[in-house]
Amino acid sequence: MPNCLSVQLVTSGLSQLAVRHLRTSAICQNVRTRFAPSPTGDLHLGSLRSALYNYLFARSHGGTFVLRIEDTDRSRTVPGATDRLLSTLQTMGLCPDEGPSVGGARGPYVQSERTALYQEHAEQLVASGAAYRCFCSRGRLDLLRRKAVSRAEKPRYDNRCRHLTDDKRRHLLERGVKHVVRLKLEDTAAPFPDLVYGPVAFDVAAQEGDPVLLKADGFPTYHLASVVDDRMMGVTHVLRGVEWQVSTSKHLVLYRAFGWEPPQFAHLPLITNPDGTKLSKRHSDVSVESHLARGFQPEALLNYVCLTGGGFRQLEQTALTDLTHLIEQFDLSRVHTNSCRLDPHRLHHLNQLALRRRFSSPGPRAELFETVRQLVTGRFKDSDHAVSQRVLEDQYVEKVLAWALEEGRVTTLQELVGRDLAYLWAVPGCLPVGRLPAVADPGGALRLTAAELAAWPEEDLTRERLVPLLRAVSERSQVKFGALMRLLRLALSGVEEGPGVAEMIAVLGHAETIQRITSCISQLPAEGTVQSC
Ligand code: GLU
Repeated sequence: MPNCLSVQLVTSGLSQLAVRHLRTSAICQNVRTRFAPSPTGDLHLGSLRSALYNYLFARSHGGTFVLRIEDTDRSRTVPGATDRLLSTLQTMGLCPDEGPSVGGARGPYVQSERTALYQEHAEQLVASGAAYRCFCSRGRLDLLRRKAVSRAEKPRYDNRCRHLTDDKRRHLLERGVKHVVRLKLEDTAAPFPDLVYGPVAFDVAAQEGDPVLLKADGFPTYHLASVVDDRMMGVTHVLRGVEWQVSTSKHLVLYRAFGWEPPQFAHLPLITNPDGTKLSKRHSDVSVESHLARGFQPEALLNYVCLTGGGFRQLEQTALTDLTHLIEQFDLSRVHTNSCRLDPHRLHHLNQLALRRRFSSPGPRAELFETVRQLVTGRFKDSDHAVSQRVLEDQYVEKVLAWALEEGRVTTLQELVGRDLAYLWAVPGCLPVGRLPAVADPGGALRLTAAELAAWPEEDLTRERLVPLLRAVSERSQVKFGALMRLLRLALSGVEEGPGVAEMIAVLGHAETIQRITSCISQLPAEGTVQSC
């Protein structure tokens, strides 16, 4: 690459670690990295990691982070996916220095706008003999595939059109027979240096047929477009998932064919489900957008992927690290090579930290309040449960958040409006009389509780002080403590599970608690009757 000192690697006799150190310590100036997603759906956690590590690597070397949209596979391109990718990257704080929305000197940054460039380059390779036109019909290719399958072999193209005579080729072209351009895959046995894995070798030529570079519709395949663009966009370092390592062997054949010096490659380890299985069995589990929609904060997600695959000199395992610090600590030579499992518990913990951090700083705190209000109004919009204006006020939202975050009651704000905590916002529907505990005089016990509470000043309604009060009521009313708690929980929330009753009362406050108890008393069946609602 023009602005980059090439690192001559003599790998024999060096340990993998030494090779990694050698290469990463010789990082060139003017680093340019790229994130090159295909707009085929949501960004998933693996792609987020690629975007983040390219960003961190560029930033930690004072370099440039480029975003390129790889949309040459028209059949897989999903309308609207590019806009979603751009907006998700922005939400995550990974803003490119060059890319479709910001422009740059080496654009356009969307591959479908660069097709002429790829066609020119394919022609160049045909002219030099590094690539050739292949006229094989779909029928013939299918036949090859079926034969291989019947022999339990891996299907591969047999490279027949490499050997067409000039006359035959001319004749086919004159007849206008549709064709593709294929790369002559040769000399792939030598290892290439990987900044993460050390020297790696895939003799793809021994395993696969010649790959297509340009399709019959004039669109390039990933291999051609990616290599041409990395070159044209001055990319010095390619950081991408290890699943692309085999492709790198093909790309190096292309670099040689063009006479270009390749960028340096670093492959990032596989991310797996918690049980070690391949990621993305259920896409919503790994989609960044769905995590954001479920209430995970961008900084929690960023830390989650960083803690999953290594790559940092020092990183607190149980704390949140901000982007600036991640940039300072980033060290490619520390990226793991073994596959790494996602641990959702870690994400939950990080999200709680992120919410607490937001709650403790004024601007983000106001945003949290607003999000909670929206969640509450959205949740109860079409329900019969009445939401009073009081619960939407800052003072109440703050009290709920302080309790929920301090006690670690919730992992996301969304959980605040889940079934167990809905009582915080809406008065429970009618009393589930059939589920009341067997208590001789529930009305009496409830009246006594309300009277005791009414005599207490609001500021004394803390969990610590409420527990002895409730015990005293239990004794005086001769209702077992557990039964009294079940009765009160139903009265206050309408459900049988949830936080402790003292916690509930402390958050709901005086007036609301007494009102709910009174409403419950009025719904109790007269002795000997059973009312249903
Ligand atoms: N477009 C490829 C993808 O979707 C990019 C692979 C690469 O980074 O070269 O992941």
